[in-house]
Amino acid sequence: MTANPAADIAGAIRRGEKTASGVLEEHLARVQAREPEIHAFNLVLEENARDTAAQIDAAVARGVDPGPLAGVPIALKDNLCTRGVPTTCSSRMLAGWRPPYDATVVARVTAAGAVAIGKTNLDEFAMGSSTENSAFGPTRNPLDPSRVPGGSSGGSAAAVAAGFAPLALGSDTGGSIRQPAALCGVVGTKPTYGVVSRYGLVAFASSLDQIGPFARSVGDAALLFDVIAGHDPADSTSLAGAPPVASAALEHGVDGLRVGLVTELVGAEGLSGEVVAGTRAAAEALASAGAKVEEVSVPATVYGLSAYYLIAPAEASSNLSRYDGVRYGHRATGAADITDMYIASRSEGFGPEVKRRIMLGTYALSAGYYDAYYGQAQKVRTLIIRDFEVAYQSFDVLLSPTAPGTAFPLGAKTADPLLMYLNDVCTIPSNLAGHPAMSVPWGAGADGLPLGVQVLAPALGETVMFQVAATLERLAPAAGRKVES
Ligand code: GLN
Repeated sequence: MTANPAADIAGAIRRGEKTASGVLEEHLARVQAREPEIHAFNLVLEENARDTAAQIDAAVARGVDPGPLAGVPIALKDNLCTRGVPTTCSSRMLAGWRPPYDATVVARVTAAGAVAIGKTNLDEFAMGSSTENSAFGPTRNPLDPSRVPGGSSGGSAAAVAAGFAPLALGSDTGGSIRQPAALCGVVGTKPTYGVVSRYGLVAFASSLDQIGPFARSVGDAALLFDVIAGHDPADSTSLAGAPPVASAALEHGVDGLRVGLVTELVGAEGLSGEVVAGTRAAAEALASAGAKVEEVSVPATVYGLSAYYLIAPAEASSNLSRYDGVRYGHRATGAADITDMYIASRSEGFGPEVKRRIMLGTYALSAGYYDAYYGQAQKVRTLIIRDFEVAYQSFDVLLSPTAPGTAFPLGAKTADPLLMYLNDVCTIPSNLAGHPAMSVPWGAGADGLPLGVQVLAPALGETVMFQVAATLERLAPAAGRKVES
């Protein structure tokens, strides 16, 4: 295993030392060997990928540079639209749907030379933290198949951890890139809201959703971030101007940087002792590398989880109203009238967690409860933004755990939605604020499974965030289990 497998593959292909077809076959062989057990993919795009790889090899032979991701296999979360290729959101609701267009991120990675190898499994419509809410069955953690990979982008995290692809794209509304990255021992990044286009991402909670990279190293995550970031006129929330450059300062170290360890997040409910100890050790390591590390209070983050589980379901209930069997989605047959048809279509098409979110959201937005629930949650969101603003007056980045523990056994949290929701306690505040955050592997728990530490930065702070992440990667204790590839 090399330090930056995606960058190394692209380099070798651009120099003519490797072929994209050869690289693809190596990855497909790994998929063939382990995918039946892992179920990272809803669909493996063998034929399309072989065609794309052949085109890249032909370009290199003609002396044309295929781009910074030349021939790099990439796994795409199955809530990203792919032209002519089924996009299911792991829901029965979208069975058989083939989008007529590519998501902007899909178009950008393809233009940069990447080879889409498959569509990855997720919690239905990205609602969940374990990938057990998929209508097509769970994904398993490649490091221990009795455990979950995290979620909702569990298929993307597992694909990267299993060596099915060195890169993957996921979406993160409340932690769905960072938490599975932590549980699978890979790097996962949620960009600043508006830096990566959401055009072609099937909406869950539009004010929180962001697309971001999974990779086996910080350098590779930066490479993919720099390809997908940037203004897109097709997304009205896309930021104008040049995006921050993730790869600009990876080698700069942390000398003189101010790092704040967030008191409320290290002390959050339900964190395991080893997670807290790991995060403190990461903070100390940064201090020995020259950073000025202190604890900092960001008080309103303690309300983040409660606010999120009103705002996200509220937006979801609105976004998912389009699936009525008429304009979009599965249509039930045999209903007596149109009302029965709507009810039957939605009852058959959505799974239990999606129904729970729609009911929660509809309730929070209803006339009698709007002020008490949705309105209050929006006020909390403002307080979180203000508290982060204060903290970032004194600190360049903040540090916290990513997930409350290592990967848990399948079924361990499915009976208790609140227990499942607690997975996101440390990741949600950045979504509410619209700030970037990323998870970097940091050693292992007593069970030998990976732990992650989270680096948080202010809006558009990706350059310094990746700089600190790269330093943490260099200082990290040896990982426990690792799938070699
Ligand atoms: N686990 C969180 C939820 O269930 C976050 C999901 C996400 O980021 N897509 O809502």
